[in-house]
Amino acid sequence: MIHDVVIAGAGPVGLFLACELRLAKLSVLVLEQAEEPGSPLKRLPFGMRGLTVPTVEALYRRGLLDEISALQVSKDGARNKAAHWAGQPRQPGGHFAGIQFYQDRIDTSKWPYRLPGSAGSSMLVDMESLETVFAAHADAMGVEIRRGIGVEDVEQSDEEVAVRAGGKTIRAHWLVGCDGGRSTVRKLGGFEFVGTDPEFTGYSVEVELADPAQLRPGRHYTPTGMYTYAPPGTVAMVDFDGGAFHRTQPITPEHVQEVLRRVSGTDVTVTSLQLATTWTDRANQATTYRNGRVLLAGDAAHIHSPLGGQGLNLGLGDAMNLGWKLAATIRGDAPDGLLDTYTSERHPIGAQVLDWSRAQVALMRPSRSSRALGAIIRDLIETPDGATYFAERVWGVSLRHDLGNGHPLAGRSVPDFELVDGTRLGEHLKAGKGLILDFDASTPLRTLANRWGDRVAYIASAATDMLGLSAVLIRPDGVVAWTAEGNPNSGEAAQAASRWFGRPK
Ligand SMILES: Cc1cc2nc3c(=O)[nH]c(=O)nc-3n(C[C@H](O)[C@H](O)[C@H](O)COP(=O)(O)OP(=O)(O)OC[C@H]3O[C@@H](n4cnc5c(N)ncnc54)[C@H](O)[C@@H]3O)c2cc1C
Repeated sequence: MIHDVVIAGAGPVGLFLACELRLAKLSVLVLEQAEEPGSPLKRLPFGMRGLTVPTVEALYRRGLLDEISALQVSKDGARNKAAHWAGQPRQPGGHFAGIQFYQDRIDTSKWPYRLPGSAGSSMLVDMESLETVFAAHADAMGVEIRRGIGVEDVEQSDEEVAVRAGGKTIRAHWLVGCDGGRSTVRKLGGFEFVGTDPEFTGYSVEVELADPAQLRPGRHYTPTGMYTYAPPGTVAMVDFDGGAFHRTQPITPEHVQEVLRRVSGTDVTVTSLQLATTWTDRANQATTYRNGRVLLAGDAAHIHSPLGGQGLNLGLGDAMNLGWKLAATIRGDAPDGLLDTYTSERHPIGAQVLDWSRAQVALMRPSRSSRALGAIIRDLIETPDGATYFAERVWGVSLRHDLGNGHPLAGRSVPDFELVDGTRLGEHLKAGKGLILDFDASTPLRTLANRWGDRVAYIASAATDMLGLSAVLIRPDGVVAWTAEGNPNSGEAAQAASRWFGRPK
């Protein structure tokens, strides 16, 4: 038997990608090294992850948002976000190296394509719940997930990939490495992984303290590093040791106490260590996300410090971009070069996120110049332009692929138009196909969509606010491929459809 696609890794990215590929009815096998899906590090408080706008939109467009919204948590772990913000004078919108921006400063008029009532701006969930929802969804869609079987070797020819796993050879037309930051697929697949070395070891620990009053709750930059304390015992620390400690020695209570004393400048005493993990700010990226029949997505393709809270979002964005392109390639109706646009669109976005995390490291260094720079950012982030800029970057609101097309909406996430029947556009994107939304119900566009058969759906409907447009062509990942104002130019529409969906029938 030969699978259409084998995915290494049943993390969030591998599972979400598997679902995307199943939308096109491909045979998908996911191999996961770990025997069991759960782990204490995926639960609260360490497993908390912030989801940004493109992720929330992707979940919404695949019908998963309601289920995942119900799992939202607050910073203190309660499953009710509203309760967390109640009583706070200002609603934080996010942060840059710990410097908060607030929602009351954000000028949303700068985002003319985000319509009122669109899927939420961001949310917090825990990794375990997220993976459970994705795994159940994948299972229901017919994805086969084999746990306790890690990819050990990879060999590819022009026609297929032979994957050695669990003592067996599994054949696939394509292999996607979603196997995390230390990806075996990346190493065996001949990818270059380049970037910058770490400056620090970061710690996330759950401890019992003899004298917790010695630590101040919240995030603190000190002359020797940084610590964040959430009583009674959750501590994150950054120790500028050049990353020397990370994964080189066991994390003992004595070591945690020594680092905590140093970075906090106190003589706090750790009486027990319940949970601990370390990480660094190493920022590396694969130079290409495709080598022949082997592809990378998620942390396998890029790693950076978790402090900016972007890695999961970046990875899910990869999956949303790759799924339909790989499916079209396997079906045989992809236009030339479609699969290569996966790297050309996602690599620059990954590079930006890596730089965003590097910039935060520069602000965190225990130096006077970093504190001085921090004071300037603090001033700027309080201005409407500053807060809007940081919200755009942190929430991912202004993400745009360069499609070489003039209209400012082309290459952006499609606005969630409210149609006259009361439905919203996002609800019509669940099938993961292209779509022409024709506000004027023009016959040539209907005929045109028909020429692409199953690949391009067609909806004729006005919307409450059409933003001055008469039609839009939307890719399966929700990105606008073409727009019309006034009388639609069918020639242009056909060109855009051919560019993304291949030859018409
Ligand atoms: C402390 C911390 C906080 C974070 N906070 C945020 C946040 O707020 N927002 C955010 O967006 N991101 C955050 N991140 C980053 C985020 O967790 C990762 O980017 C995300 O988990 C990547 O998903 P993935 O599926 O690519 O990889 P992973 O989640 O690492 O999953 C990879 C899977 O592959 C499996 N595997 C490994 N090797 C093999 C093999 N050889 N064969 C088969 N399977 C294999 C692993 O067991 C694992 O299940 C944080 C990370 C950390 C450490």
